[in-house]
Parts: sequence; structure tokens; C-alpha cells
Amino acid sequence: MRTADRQHAVRVSGSAAAPTPHARRHAAAAAGRRRRDEPRRTPARAQANPRLVLAAVHAGAALATTGCWTGLGSLAGPADWFGWTGRLTGLLAGYACAVLLVLVARIPALDRGIGTDRLARWHAAGGRYTIVLTLVHLVCATAAHVAREGAGAVEGTIRLVVDGPGMPEAVAGTALLVGVAIVSVREARRRLSYEIWHYLHFATYAAVFLAFAHQLTGPDFEDSPLMRLLWRALYLSACAALLWHRFLTPVRRALRHRLRVAHIQLESPAVVSVYLTGEHLDELRAEPGQFFRWRFLAPGMWWTANPYSLSAPANPRFLRITVKGVGDHSRALGRLRPGTRVWAEGPYGALTAARQRGRKVLLIGGGVGISPLRTLFETLPGEVTLVYMARRDEDLVLRRELDHIAAVRGATIHYTVDDLYGSTNGRSVPLTGRHLRTLIPGLPGYDVYLCGPSGMTTAARHALRRAGVPSRRIHLECFDF
Ligand SMILES: Cc1cc2nc3c(=O)[nH]c(=O)nc-3n(C[C@H](O)[C@H](O)[C@H](O)COP(=O)(O)OP(=O)(O)OC[C@H]3O[C@@H](n4cnc5c(N)ncnc54)[C@H](O)[C@@H]3O)c2cc1C
Repeated sequence: MRTADRQHAVRVSGSAAAPTPHARRHAAAAAGRRRRDEPRRTPARAQANPRLVLAAVHAGAALATTGCWTGLGSLAGPADWFGWTGRLTGLLAGYACAVLLVLVARIPALDRGIGTDRLARWHAAGGRYTIVLTLVHLVCATAAHVAREGAGAVEGTIRLVVDGPGMPEAVAGTALLVGVAIVSVREARRRLSYEIWHYLHFATYAAVFLAFAHQLTGPDFEDSPLMRLLWRALYLSACAALLWHRFLTPVRRALRHRLRVAHIQLESPAVVSVYLTGEHLDELRAEPGQFFRWRFLAPGMWWTANPYSLSAPANPRFLRITVKGVGDHSRALGRLRPGTRVWAEGPYGALTAARQRGRKVLLIGGGVGISPLRTLFETLPGEVTLVYMARRDEDLVLRRELDHIAAVRGATIHYTVDDLYGSTNGRSVPLTGRHLRTLIPGLPGYDVYLCGPSGMTTAARHALRRAGVPSRRIHLECFDF
């Protein structure tokens, strides 16, 4: 870190008051309940293994396309080869659509094991493959049809679209899919607000629904009741998971927990903490490090659900988030009135104690990325060190609370105040492997939890790799999906 003179490491020896009565009572009670060597372990909950999930996805693709590989030897001429390629890519595209739905169904075991951000990346990459497969299927199946019919390209294509089984719907579905792909291209997405992009994305559900009947007309399904059954079961399971986890569970939870804004606390000119109360909060089973998608039922805010991490361990009396105002939604939080109803969807996220492999832990937080790390700092077992980086002193929020936790558990905090992100494009983070190794002796043996803006987490990750920390021990959450 460039400006060592402006950086000060704090090994806190005295207690410091937490900033609010809520937080003070809670931090003291939670810390007092446990001794340093008797850390709380959250009960094990089902979580998917990312490698096994990927293996299952690939095995499913191989199974779905088994029929294509028999009779390959009998293909003769371009029409047959076009037909075969169209068949293979059609099957794969249909299968990929179901997988994409499962990836965004917010199934808790997938989310905890793989992480929301990684699932979102898989979904985005899978979406690109699906578009390519669909377009190749479209071109090859049309070419095969035209060649076999012996009609002109235009006439043959029109006849296929009008007379082909389930074709008009499939073409409409493909058009919708391509439309969503276009608005998801980085350049286009930058011009749209997140919410508009998000709601346009719902058109993919309609696209999948429209194309489903056409999928079952392929040669692999015509003579195989088993294949039709399996395909229907695959799609039914994906739709049921989506309906249950994304739509019914949030409604059920909203009615059960009846969350409301209790109190707004100004942490810095740009950062507020929102305290929420409700009923049966213990049943939420939110782990330190996790986040919810919050829908505040206030004018202009009810139609968007934004992700914010818990900045204090969940407890039966209140939940707390700490938010930096960067846009319309986050800035509006400071203006919320106590009593405002809230729907919380979650808990989500894999940045939890379940990732910890050893006793020594380093937490690196950038700016408001301190939110989930604050809860981990209090609750992770073992020897914990926190590096908290911000541009200015006033951006070091929750500081007295952190100092208090450090005092109670004898942990070390390094606060660094610098123009950390260099230029405003957020790329030049002055984090180096050498500096980190000097700051934290024995660093390669640590588990490292990272959270902050993407520029900072990328730079920190590279620095940690250079410092000898293996990838599997770097656990990160980025605040942009
Ligand atoms: C897992 C996770 C945890 C987060 N935790 C915190 C936290 O504890 N404290 C905090 O201050 N910030 C947190 N963020 C960042 C926070 O969600 C965004 O800053 C906020 O949603 C911006 O919304 P806006 O309308 O104010 O700004 P905008 O200018 O409208 O959005 C800025 C960017 O935020 C992202 N964003 C906006 N809306 C959503 C949405 N509904 N879902 C996903 N991304 C969205 C998009 O990338 C968008 O480009 C977290 C983000 C993620 C992904």
C-alpha cells in the first residue's frame, strides 16, 4: 500500500463503545457470550459442491444427446450433416435453457455452496452458449429442411416457419432470447438502469415457455416416451424451483416476519445503517457474511429489490444493513421512515464460516465492503486480522464497533486510509503481494475473506496470489454482479 505514513495499524487494547445502543448491546452480548477459543460454529446446512454441480451439468448434457451419436455413420451428404448438427445443437440449447433456469432459481443449497456471484457468472456464460447453440440450430435445421424439400431458400424457410410443428412459437421465443442477449451485451447494459435490464430479462421465461412445445417434436422425442418424460420432468423441476424459491418463499417470509424499518443511523456523510425489526427473526437462519435482497415498500422503492449484506450478526431482535449511497435506491435508504414495511429475500451468499479451512483468518474490506466482514470479524473462530481500506478517514465506518470487537477478542485491525483506488475508474489499487506478506507474516497459511468494489477485490486477489495464498483459500464477494 503506497502511503505507509498514512496507514496506521491498530492493535486495540482497550474497549470502545459501539456507535448505537442497539449495536453496542448486541456486540457486547455476542462477544461476551463466547470466549475466543470457543468460537460459534453455525450448524451445517446443505450446500452443493461446485465441481459436482458442474460434473452433473455436463453428464446431463451427455445423457440428453446420447441418441445423436448412434447412426452417425449413416449420414450422407450436406443435408444429413446439417440435419444432424441442427438436432445436436437443438437438444443442447433446450437442455441449457433448463439449466439456466435452475441457476437463477435461488436454490439455497446451490447459493450457499457456489455463491450468488459465481452462479450469476455461470448463468451469463451459459446464456451466451445457449444463444450460439440456438442460432446454429436455427441455421442448420433450416438449411437441412430447404435442401431436403428442394425448394428455394426463402420459400423453404417460410414453409418451415409456417408449417413446422411448434415453429411460430419457437421463432417468437428465439426472437425474445436474442433481444434479451442484445440488451445484456456490456455496452447496451451500461446504458440501461439495472431495474430495466432486470425486468427485460424476465422475457427469457416467456421465450423458454414458447419454445418448449417445439423441443418435443425433434426426432429424439418422437419415438421415445422415456425421453419425453425426462424432458418434461427436467423443465417441471426447474419451473417448480423458480416458483418456490423466487416467488412463493419471499411472499411467505414477508407474511411471517413482517419486517419494518426501526431506525436509521448516519454512519458517515454517505453511509447509513438501517435497523429492521420483525417477528420470528431467528427462523431466518442468516449466517454472518450473508446478504438479503431488500424491497422497501416506500414510494418509488417497492418495485426494486437490491442486495445488501447484514452488517451485524442476525439476532432475534433486529437485523442491520449498512449502505453507501451510490445511486437512487441506496441514497433513498437514508430517507426511509421508521415503520416502513420491508420484504427481505434471502439469506443468500457463500461468504460464510463454512468456507474457513484453518485457524488463521485475514479479512480485507474496501469501503462499504466492510459490512459483511464486520459480522465475520465478530463471529469467525480462530485468530482473525482485519485490513480495512478506505479513501478517507470519514469513510471508515463502524470503526468504534470494530475496535470494540477487536478488544473483546484480542484481534488486530489495520486501517489504511489512502487514495486506494488511484484514479476514479477504480482499477489501480496499490495492493502488492510483497506488502501484504510484510503486513501479515505467514500469510500463505491464512484463509482470506475479501469484500468490496470489483476493482479492489480483483487487485487484492492478484496480490494475495502473488503472496502465495492458494486460490481455494481466497473467499470473495464482489458488490457488483
Ligand atoms: C451480494 C451483494 C452485497 C452487497 N452488499 C452491500 C452492502 O452491504 N452495502 C452497500 O452499500 N452495498 C452493497 N452492495 C452493493 C449495492 O447492492 C448497490 O450499490 C446498490 O444496489 C446500488 O443501487 P442504486 O440504485 O443505489 O444504484 P444504481 O446506480 O442504480 O446501481 C449501481 C449498480 O449497482 C448494481 N445494482 C443495482 N441494483 C441492483 C439490484 N437490484 N441487484 C443487484 N445489483 C444491483 C448494478 O451493478 C448497478 O450497475 C452489495 C451488492 C451485492 C451484489
